[in-house]
Amino acid sequence: MTDLNSDNQTDQLPLVLIVDDCPAIHRLLQVRLRSESVRIMSATNGREALDKAEIFNPDLILLDLGLPGMDGYEVLRSLKNNASTHEIPVLIVSGKRDSEDKVTAFDLGAVDFVCKPFEMAELRARIRVALRMQRLVRMLAQRAQIDGLTGLSNRTQFDRRWREEFERASRSGHPLSLAMIDLDEFKSINDTYGHPAGDAVLSGIAQMVQHAVRVSDIPCRFGGEEFAIILPEIGSTQAGLLCERIRKTAESMEWPRHPARRVTLSVGVAGSDTVSGHRPEDFIELADKLLYNAKRSGRNRVVRGDLGTGPIRIAS
Ligand code: GH3
Ligand code: MG
Ligand code: MG
Repeated sequence: MTDLNSDNQTDQLPLVLIVDDCPAIHRLLQVRLRSESVRIMSATNGREALDKAEIFNPDLILLDLGLPGMDGYEVLRSLKNNASTHEIPVLIVSGKRDSEDKVTAFDLGAVDFVCKPFEMAELRARIRVALRMQRLVRMLAQRAQIDGLTGLSNRTQFDRRWREEFERASRSGHPLSLAMIDLDEFKSINDTYGHPAGDAVLSGIAQMVQHAVRVSDIPCRFGGEEFAIILPEIGSTQAGLLCERIRKTAESMEWPRHPARRVTLSVGVAGSDTVSGHRPEDFIELADKLLYNAKRSGRNRVVRGDLGTGPIRIAS
């Protein structure tokens, strides 16, 4: 247990927010959780608890029900109704012992209920279980977003992130672009050198794309041998230049399993200096159409278009 002004190593420790109006409980838990490798933060009323939960995003909340003003049930309800706090597990630590109170707390989303006065060893064990479950849930959620072969965001995550970035660009009035990449004649790689060789190409290209883009860009495996890159804050011209760099790099890459055979890619880039007046799917449809144009006009090229001004071809 440490306070929050600690070094990097302890910053990695799970953060537990203790919500109780009784200072003696805070003192007791501060001391008795010292061996648990957690950081502790305190709140003495509901408002403070909600604010700290939102700002610090703790890994676990220990919540008393009998708080002055806003009671624990209300705090629990607010935590579960707020998108930024609803996944934080809440362990109730309360003087209430009726099973009706417990059922209400569980129905509102609490993960566990410990009655006061509590056995310290039992509370510690329940805290460990709640934190372990939370770690697992986070790990599964993360895995569900990642494509197993390439390590990039998968299609489900693309759909979510594209909506988010589109909304962000709508609010800020900033530019936004989307690139759709498809490997050229990829089927013949599989057919000639085998499926594992094809897989190696997919992960090699994914890695190269990941290195080529900025940290704020979101490269995704869109499906099969197609990739998408969400490019926030840049319009079609800059996005086209970035994709041209990616195209050139792909063309120059050598593949240990088939040194004589290069792999090229075709790209459609749709961008706009402002997303207002457009729908999220307009970008996807245009990028897809431009990708098709790139294929039809000979492959190994980038075709870019602006949603305002119509397609502009870039020579490859
Ligand atoms: P084009 O230039 O027109 O895009 O031709 P293409 O051969 O790339 O396109 P096509 O759609 O005919 O073939 C795509 C191939 O990608 C077929 C499929 O077997 C292969 N593919 C899709 N996913 C994977 C994968 O995960 N691993 C491997 N090795 N191949 C894959
Ligand atoms: Mg394809
Ligand atoms: Mg292809």
